[in-house]
Amino acid sequence: MAFQEEFTLKTSPRYLKGVGPERSVLLTRLDLRTLEDLFYFFPRRYEDRRQVKSVSELVAGEKECVAGLVSSRGLVRTRSGQTIFKVVVSDKKSRLFAVWFNQAYLSKVFLPKSKVVLCGKVEKEGDHFQMVHPEYEIPVLENIHSGRIVPIYSLTEDLYQKSIRALLFRLLKEKLSLVRDPLPPPVRKRLGLAESAYAFKQIHFPDDFESQKAAYERLVFDEFFLMQLFVQIKKNEIQRENSAISHAGGKEEVERLIESLGFSLTNGQRNAIEEILQDMKKPRPMNRLIQGDVGSGKTAVAAAALVFTVANGFQGALMAPTEVLAQQHFITLTQMLEPLGISCGYLAQGVTPEERSRLLGAAAAGEIQVLVGTHALIQESVKFKKLGLVVIDEQHKFGVSQRSRLKEKSGGSAHFLLMTATPIPRTLAMTLYGDLDISSITELPKGRKPITTLWTGEDRRGEIYDFVDGLLAKGGQGYVICPLINESGAFSPKGVLAAHQELTQIFDHRRVGILHGKMKSEEKKKIVTDFKEKRLDILISTVVIEVGIDVPNASFMIVENAEKFGLAQLHQLRGRVGRGSEESFCVLFSDTAHEESRERLGVFEKTQSGFVLANEDLKLRGAGEFVGEKQHGFLKLRIGDLAKDVEILERAKREAKNFILKDPRLERPEHRLLKAMLRGRFKAVDKKITVLA
Ligand code: ADP
Ligand code: MG
Repeated sequence: MAFQEEFTLKTSPRYLKGVGPERSVLLTRLDLRTLEDLFYFFPRRYEDRRQVKSVSELVAGEKECVAGLVSSRGLVRTRSGQTIFKVVVSDKKSRLFAVWFNQAYLSKVFLPKSKVVLCGKVEKEGDHFQMVHPEYEIPVLENIHSGRIVPIYSLTEDLYQKSIRALLFRLLKEKLSLVRDPLPPPVRKRLGLAESAYAFKQIHFPDDFESQKAAYERLVFDEFFLMQLFVQIKKNEIQRENSAISHAGGKEEVERLIESLGFSLTNGQRNAIEEILQDMKKPRPMNRLIQGDVGSGKTAVAAAALVFTVANGFQGALMAPTEVLAQQHFITLTQMLEPLGISCGYLAQGVTPEERSRLLGAAAAGEIQVLVGTHALIQESVKFKKLGLVVIDEQHKFGVSQRSRLKEKSGGSAHFLLMTATPIPRTLAMTLYGDLDISSITELPKGRKPITTLWTGEDRRGEIYDFVDGLLAKGGQGYVICPLINESGAFSPKGVLAAHQELTQIFDHRRVGILHGKMKSEEKKKIVTDFKEKRLDILISTVVIEVGIDVPNASFMIVENAEKFGLAQLHQLRGRVGRGSEESFCVLFSDTAHEESRERLGVFEKTQSGFVLANEDLKLRGAGEFVGEKQHGFLKLRIGDLAKDVEILERAKREAKNFILKDPRLERPEHRLLKAMLRGRFKAVDKKITVLA
C-alpha cells in the first residue's frame, strides 16, 4: 500500500500518512472505516477564523485568533499534582497569556521565539489578555486551524477535533482525485451544480461561505437524487403489467353511490376519487396514498373505490387498526353499500367462531363483496375469490409487512389504497412514499366551525369544568383523554380510572362513561354505541379513540397531561370534535416546564392545519416521529435536511424521474458510476430490486 495508485475510496484510513493502526481504531469508533467515510464525514458547523489579529488588536469577551511569537513559557506543578502550562505571546504594546491545565507535553510544542497562532475566548486579566485552553497552531507551510473558515466536526473531545481536521485536510489535498463525479457533465451543467470534487473540498474547507453553499447544494442534491432514483426504480418494478386487473366499467355505480351520500363531495374528495378510478382502469396495480386531514371525509372516498371494484366483478377489503374503528367503518359502509346491492362482512378478534367460519366461507366463495376488519383480515385462513382492491385505513398504524400481507391474498395483483390522517410533510412523503402516488384532500367539508383550542394549567380547572357543564346543559357531549389507564404514583400522569372517579363526583348529575384498550371488545362496542346514541354525556378514554371515532355531536375534548402526546397525536385527538355544526373546544391541561413540550403545546394551540403541524413536528422532533424503525434507517441523511431542503429535494425528484424514464435500468455507459453508487447505498435496503442485483 505504499503507492498512491493503489488507494481507492474503500481503502482504510490507516494507510494514510500519519494515521497508523492506533488512530485508525479511534476512527472506527466514529464509523470512519474507509476514505469514502472520511470524505462524507461532514462538518457540523464552521468557525470563521479568517481574521488573525496581533495581540494589541484583541478585544476582551470575543472569540478571536491571534498570531505572534512565543516570548516566554513555563510549566508549574501544583502541590496536588496538577500541571499548569503558560505561554506568553506579546507584541510591542500588549501581552497575552495562554494557559493549559494538565497538558505538560505542550512544553515540547511551544518553543521559545517560535511563531504561533492561538484561537479562543479572550479575557482581560489585569494588565494582560488571557486565553484558557485555546486551540493552537504552529504554522508550517499552510494553516489548517486558523486564518481560514475552519470546520467543526461532531466529536466528543476537543483534542480530536484538530486531528480529524488535519486528517481531512491531508486527504483533500492528496486524494481528492479519488472523488469521481457521478453526474454526466451536461446534466451537471444544466442543473447549475458544482463538481463533486470541488464540493467535497469546499464543504470541509470552504474558501468563503458562497462556495460552502454551492458545495452543500451539490452534496444534498446527490443524496436526494440517489434516494429518488432508488424509489423510481422500485416503483417501476412493483408495477408489472397485468391486464387482468384493469377495471373497465363501473363509473355509473360510483355515481349512484355519490348521489346517495346525503352531502355533496368536496373538491378534494372528488379529485381523489377521479385519480383512483384512473389508476384502477390501468393494467397495473394502483399504489396510492390518500392524505387527508382528520374529518376530511376519506371514508366516502374509500367507499367509492370499493364500489368501483365490486362493479367490475372483484371483491374489496378494508383493514383498520382498531376494533372500534373497524366496526364503525363496517356500519358506515353497510349503510352506504347495501342499498346498492353490495354485501358487506365484518371480521375481528371479537367475532364468534360460528360467525367467523360463515364469513370465511362466504369470502372465499365470493358471496361477501366487501370485507371490513382489523388485523384479523391478514390471517392465513382468510381467503378471497377474486380480490381487486385493498384499502388500509390509518396506514401508519400498520407495519410494512402487515400491509403487504393483505395484498398478497390477491396474488399481489390487487389495487392498493392507503389512507392516512397523519399528514406527512411533503418532503417526507416524497422520500418515504416516493413509490406511491399521493392524493391530498386539503379542505374540510363546508360548515365545519374551527375548534377553539386552549392550553392551560391546573389553576383554571374549576373554570373549565363550569364551562363544560354549560355545554352539557345544552345537550352537548365530549371526551376526556388521559395518557394512561392506571396512575402509578404521586407524580404519575392522570389515568382514566382516577379521572373517572373524580368526574363522576364533580358531574354527579351527568352520565360519565369510560373506554380503554384493556376492555373486552363487547364492552367497548357498547360504550361507543351508548356515547353515539347520547346515553352518555362524557366519555373518558385513553388514546384508543385517537383514530376514527365519528360522533358529530361531541363538541369538547379535554386532554390531561397533554405534554405526554406528540403533535400528530394531539391533532388526531382534536379531530374527534368539530365534526358537527356546533362550535367546538379542545382544552389541554399541562403544567410542564419542559421547554420542547411547551413549544409544542404553544404551536398546537395556535394551529389548526394538520399539514402545518406535521411540518412543525418534523422540525421539533425529526423524521423518526413519522416512520417506523426500518424505514428510518433508509432515511438516515448524511447532509440533507428534510425540513429545510425542500427545493433541492423536488429538483432531485424531477431529475430522477427523467433519468429513469430515459434509461430505466441505468444501462447507459455515462450512468455506470451512478448505478454503482446506487447499488452501494441501497442494495441492502431492498434485495428484491433486480436493477441493483
Ligand atoms: P376522515 O377523513 O377523518 O376519515 P370521515 O370519513 O370519518 O373523515 O368523515 C368525517 C365526517 O364527515 C363523517 O361524518 C362524514 O359523513 C362527513 N362527511 C364526509 N364528507 C363530507 C362532505 N363532503 N360534506 C359533509 N360531510 C361530509
Ligand atoms: Mg377515517
